[in-house]
Amino acid sequence: MTVKTRFAPSPTGYLHVGGARTALYSWLYAKKHQGSFVLRIEDTDRERSTEESVQAILDGMQWLDLQHDEGPFYQTHHFDRYKELIQQLVEQGKAYRCYCSKERLDDLREQQQASKQRIGYDGHCRNLSCDEQDSSQPHVIRFKNPLEGSVVFDDLIKGTISVNNSELDDLIIARTDGTPTYNFTVVVDDSDMEISHVIRGDDHVNNTPRQINMIEALGRQVPKYAHVPMILGDDGKRLSKRHGAVSVMQYRDEGYLPQAVLNYLVRLGWSHGDQEVFSVDEMIELFDLKDVNRAPSAFNTDKLNWLNQHYIKSLPAEEVLKHLQFHINEQQLDVANGPDIKDLIPEMAERVKTLKEFVLAVRYFYHDFDEFDANAAKKHLRPVARQPLELAKQKLSETHDWTAGNLHSIVSQTAEELELGMGKVGMPLRVAVTGAGMSPDLGITLEWIGKERVLSRIDQALDFIAQREANS
Ligand code: GLU
Repeated sequence: MTVKTRFAPSPTGYLHVGGARTALYSWLYAKKHQGSFVLRIEDTDRERSTEESVQAILDGMQWLDLQHDEGPFYQTHHFDRYKELIQQLVEQGKAYRCYCSKERLDDLREQQQASKQRIGYDGHCRNLSCDEQDSSQPHVIRFKNPLEGSVVFDDLIKGTISVNNSELDDLIIARTDGTPTYNFTVVVDDSDMEISHVIRGDDHVNNTPRQINMIEALGRQVPKYAHVPMILGDDGKRLSKRHGAVSVMQYRDEGYLPQAVLNYLVRLGWSHGDQEVFSVDEMIELFDLKDVNRAPSAFNTDKLNWLNQHYIKSLPAEEVLKHLQFHINEQQLDVANGPDIKDLIPEMAERVKTLKEFVLAVRYFYHDFDEFDANAAKKHLRPVARQPLELAKQKLSETHDWTAGNLHSIVSQTAEELELGMGKVGMPLRVAVTGAGMSPDLGITLEWIGKERVLSRIDQALDFIAQREANS
């Protein structure tokens, strides 16, 4: 069988983590079986669908590099096809016009609630004869769900699912204005596009028996289904905005690499032994729907951070740089005015978990600052630091060898001459030149900041100390 999967988001918001995971699983399954992956935008809800949201979905998919082989298809382009098949079902007696008024349906629901019956349409118009019908009157079209028997399917994640037809009512497939409804459009497209495997969130599992009945009524091949359990936040509640970033692009904005997000998403509900790190090729090779957990998975930000740092450390610097560029632009880092930022990657990879942190943490290599971090200054730019800073400045100004190793020895010589521990020179100097207390190795830091800036920043720190002395 040729495997064809699809991702079918409704463009009513951004691409969220749950959707991205469903897309990833569908994509992996197609790749694993040398099949194809379809992107279908389910935009029939004209009121809730927006252009921005379509774009957000396309951007999210592109950022994750989940390329589709076919599409994107838009359901709004298929209205004629849906109409044609609705008409066909009506002509074949597999669907019917329903003239029930809203009042009648409201009363029906109330009665059913009061007598604790199953809520659903009672089939009032199911058997109206032609004489009893006047298609010029407002009506909807309902699918004639079988009355007997049951729908049984083998969900590739959840196992066998069986639902009695007596529990399914006659679903509306076309509204009064003639527009088709979600369950019908999905069925038409899944069969027209010859989707072999429908992999989607388990919020759709209750729709599946109805969809299977409709596919059968259309005389089409029923695909295989796999319903992926939902994602919960760290607190066990369904993942939502309350838990922080839920849109995929927000992860980019927060400084995550797409490689880390994909790796994180694949593990969110799927495992292969106790392996945590998977390249995309490994995911394709090892992913299988039968290894997807049946239980919901819980989001874990620490793990995502860990993976992100892993990828910052291990991906080629060019690749990290490609993604760093977004943050460089966002934070207007003047990278032309300092060391080659690519050279900073191995050093910074040990110190930061996100690319956003990275760009914030290297700002002092490119931009001067007016203020010192208050805590670091309080601790290290004290009057006792004046002498070590002055001597270090003198030595640094005299040297012609501005390389990390030599700069490091200058700092130790300063400490030795003043009979101080290294920290008593190193820390004030670090705060003086970086504005705060954290940086890579001091020799490297000094080298990268450059002589002119180092000297003027030491002056700035000495002024700060003088001011402090004057105020005390
Ligand atoms: N458009 C539906 C949604 O975004 C998904 C439909 C499906 O996967 O069958 O929830």
